[in-house]
Amino acid sequence: MTAIPAPPAERAIGEILSAIRSTRARGRPASALPRLVIATFVAIACLFGGTGCRGPARGPARGPADVLLITVDTLRADHLSLYGYGRATTPQLDRWFGDGAIYERAYSTEANTSPSLVSVLSGLLPQEHGVRLLYQLLPAATPVLPELLPDRYETAAIVSNMVLTDEAIGLADRFDHYDDFVDERESSRVVYERNAVRTTDAALRWLAGRADPARPVFLWVHYIDPHGPYRPPADRPRSFTHEGARPIKIARVPAYQREPGVTDGLAYVDRYDEEIAYTDAEIGRLLDRFAALRSIDDALVVFTADHGESMMEHERWFTHGYHVYDEIVRVPLMLRGPGIVSARREEPASGVDIAPTILRFIGAAPPPTMRPVDLRDGTGLTATRPVFVEATWGRKKQWRAAVTRDAKWMTQVWAPSRATTQQRRYDLVGDPDELRAQPWDPSAPIPTRLVELSRTDPDPAGRPAEYAKGELLTAPKVAPRVSAEARERLKSLGYVE
Ligand SMILES: [Zn+2]
Repeated sequence: MTAIPAPPAERAIGEILSAIRSTRARGRPASALPRLVIATFVAIACLFGGTGCRGPARGPARGPADVLLITVDTLRADHLSLYGYGRATTPQLDRWFGDGAIYERAYSTEANTSPSLVSVLSGLLPQEHGVRLLYQLLPAATPVLPELLPDRYETAAIVSNMVLTDEAIGLADRFDHYDDFVDERESSRVVYERNAVRTTDAALRWLAGRADPARPVFLWVHYIDPHGPYRPPADRPRSFTHEGARPIKIARVPAYQREPGVTDGLAYVDRYDEEIAYTDAEIGRLLDRFAALRSIDDALVVFTADHGESMMEHERWFTHGYHVYDEIVRVPLMLRGPGIVSARREEPASGVDIAPTILRFIGAAPPPTMRPVDLRDGTGLTATRPVFVEATWGRKKQWRAAVTRDAKWMTQVWAPSRATTQQRRYDLVGDPDELRAQPWDPSAPIPTRLVELSRTDPDPAGRPAEYAKGELLTAPKVAPRVSAEARERLKSLGYVE
């Protein structure tokens, strides 16, 4: 059945009414207010011809269509076979996304899990959505995707990283179903995570209970396995071995990653790739079963990562979060579904481009606060549009970068004064490994915008006010509200050293 889409302003007004109904029906007062505010804003903006009010990029609105968002923790783009890696790490992703839209230069907005994934869900940069640290609750005024979808959508999140538990980030009341079970996996030490088999199992259990064909689903599944320590299941056959050796410099490897007796860096790379292959197999199982239960060819499926991981490139090895080098913030981004133009695209894309794409896919008008982008066909993307990235460095410094197709500008921000230092430009074509920093012209348009972002940032180093008072200064990425017990658990994942 094909429906004629309502004009954007009418749709937005309909969303106001629907938000009011939702408040009554679901009893979600914490999220209903921002939803109402944003819908009102959209309606007014649309009445005056706002740029965020264009309808879907093409064709008539379809009937209820599912949206499946799959994210993987700590997955750098260049370790996927679909991105040209020499190892067959991702045969399932190759199978499902080989004919899709593949973004060669996609970037996370932040080098850490929570701020990056809230950007994916909200379409906003960290300084706009307000989650800068781990264990920092999502502000009530920041709407996220499940609230922006029509009420007919059943929404669920299956997340397996402890920094995404409701206790850590406060997302549960934004979804109809929020499964954040994280357990202890005992090997030679305790690691708090839910592995890929059990993550897929949990997603499939929820899907199996969705029987009403009139109710499409928005399902977000977040896998954590490639995150260190790199320990693929012991009962899984090993796929990757290497010749030779590259001794690690132990001082560069964080404590949570050090494996007793393993001094060959290439062995760490093997283990990381095994974790990717294991996760890929479970994503294949998820997609196969989704296809059996739902109409997957009518669904929009989006795949990305929250950030990458350093191997042995720059200052710190086998970790992330600390910098804006490509190995840490360049992520895979792929889409499949109706209206997708099969292509490998070189224009830079960002995690903030996902939410407006999903809203356009379902025929809803993205709020004007989102970027006017549609990743299905690359609308709004150009080689010179900069995407913005940030990362924490120590207690009071932050790296920020602007990336175009061919160049990256990066600078360090000293939070107390907002002064920028260490301005560098990298030629991503001639120097893709970012080894030869070039000076930059501060008066050029992109550096000017990058510095301006720091100046307008309400909190340039991503620190809540209580942090400045000196609480938990040994855990610069973690909000002071974290409990002592959770803080101990965070050590197993390297979030606290
Ligand atoms: Zn992460």
